[in-house]
Amino acid sequence: TQILILGSGGREHALAWKLAQSAIVKHIFVCPGNPGSAKNQKTSNLDLPLIHPYKNIVDWAVNKKIDIVVPGPEDPLVLGVEKCFRDVGIPVFGPTQLAARMEGSKAFSKAFMHRHAIPTAKFRTFSSSQLQDATNYVQTCGHPVVLKASGLAGGKGVLIPSSTDEALQGLRSIMVDNAFGSAGDEIVIEELLEGPEISVLAFSDGYTIVPLPAAQDHKRIAEGDTGLNTGGMGAYAPAPVATPAIMDRIMTESLRPTIDGMRKEGFPFVGLLFTGFMLTADGPKVLEYNVRFGDPETEALMMLLSDDVDLAAVLIACAERHLDSVQINTRPGFSVSVILVSGGYPESYAKGKPIQVGEVPSDVVVFHCGTSMSGNDLVTSGGRVMAVTCSAPTLEQALSQVYATVDKISFEGNRALTSSSQAPSDGLTY
Ligand code: ATP
Repeated sequence: TQILILGSGGREHALAWKLAQSAIVKHIFVCPGNPGSAKNQKTSNLDLPLIHPYKNIVDWAVNKKIDIVVPGPEDPLVLGVEKCFRDVGIPVFGPTQLAARMEGSKAFSKAFMHRHAIPTAKFRTFSSSQLQDATNYVQTCGHPVVLKASGLAGGKGVLIPSSTDEALQGLRSIMVDNAFGSAGDEIVIEELLEGPEISVLAFSDGYTIVPLPAAQDHKRIAEGDTGLNTGGMGAYAPAPVATPAIMDRIMTESLRPTIDGMRKEGFPFVGLLFTGFMLTADGPKVLEYNVRFGDPETEALMMLLSDDVDLAAVLIACAERHLDSVQINTRPGFSVSVILVSGGYPESYAKGKPIQVGEVPSDVVVFHCGTSMSGNDLVTSGGRVMAVTCSAPTLEQALSQVYATVDKISFEGNRALTSSSQAPSDGLTY
C-alpha cells in the first residue's frame, strides 16, 4: 500500500509515524510535509503546492499508483479534495464536500443537530443583513451568548462576550466591520454553556463509528488556562472526566445519530469525525464538529494506539465501508503531547531560529509542526514548532518523560506550558 498524506504539521507527521509501522504499508508520501516527516521511516515529502483543484498532485498520485489519500487540514476537504481524487479512482480517507459542511458551516451543522435532536447549545442563525434582528435576539434571549462566525476562521471565529454590551459590540464587529471576513457572512448566536470540555475523535465508514478515548487540549497560551487562544498548546488522553457512562451517552445521543443522520440525508461521513463536547450539568452537548484529525490531539492519540493497530488497515476499512471488521485498541495508561512554541506566538513571532535537539529517549517522539531546513540547519518556521509526545502507564510518568525532553530542545524564544498546566483541567483526581 502507498499512502499520500496532505499537510505539513505535527498531525501529518504523527499520522505518517503510525502508518509507517503498518506491515501493509510500502511507502508514505507527505505533501508538502516537513523535516520531521522527511526523516520518518518509509516516508518522503512531496514538494508540490496544495492548491485547489490539486491537478499536479492528482496527476502525480495517478502516476505513482497511490492507494489512498489522507487529507490533514480542513480547507482541502471543504473545497472538495475528496472528489478530485475520486474522479481518477483514488479513494480518500476523508469526507465529501457535502459532508465537510459539518465543519465548513456552523449554521449548517447547528441546523443538522436541531433536525436530529442532537444535544447542543440553543441557537439562532442570522445573515449579515439582519443586524437588527440579531441585536433584538441578544437583548431578549435571556441568557449569556457566544457569537460564532459560521464559516472557517482558522479556529479564531468565536467571541465569548462578558456582558450584553460586549455582545452587541461583537455583533457589529462581525456583521458590520467584517472582523472574520466572509466567514462572518452568517453568524450563529448560541447559549453560553459551562462545564469541562473534551474532544472525541472517531473513525467512521458512514455506517459504523468507532471513537478513540476522549482527549482534552489546552488552548490558552499562558499557565492555568489563561491568555490568548492558540491552535493548541498540548493535549492528553484519556481524559478521566469522560467516564464510561459519559462515553456511552455521547455514543447514543450524539455520535450515532450524527453518522446515521448524515447517511440518511445523503452525505454519509467517511473519515475522522472530531466532535467537541461540553460536559454540562444537563449532560454532554456538542460544541462543534471538525471533519478531520485535530492537532495536537492526533499526536497524543497516535501514540495511545496499541502496537497491534494497523492504522493503514483502519483507514482503508473506512474508505471501503467495512470498519466493523477491524479492531482499534489503545494501550493502558495515558498519552501526552506538549507543544513548543515560538516566543510571541500567537501574536507576531520570529521565524528561522536554529533548533537544537538533545538526546530523545526511545519512548518519546518529537513530532515536527512548524520547522524547515535552512541549508543543513533545522530552523523554526511557524508559531507551533514541535510536539513532544509520550505514552506511559500513568499521566505523571508521561508528563515527566515529555518535560525531560522539552528541556533538551532549545531555540531562541522557545516556550511551552509547564507540567502543572498540562494536568487535567477539570479538578478531578486521576
Ligand atoms: P476550534 O479551534 O476548536 O476548531 P472553532 O473556531 O471552530 O474552534 P468552536 O469549537 O465552536 O469554534 O468554539 C471554540 C471554543 O469556544 C470552544 O472550544 C469553547 O471553549 C468555546 N465555546 C464554543 N461554543 C461555546 C458555548 N456555547 N458555550 C461556551 N463556550 C463555547
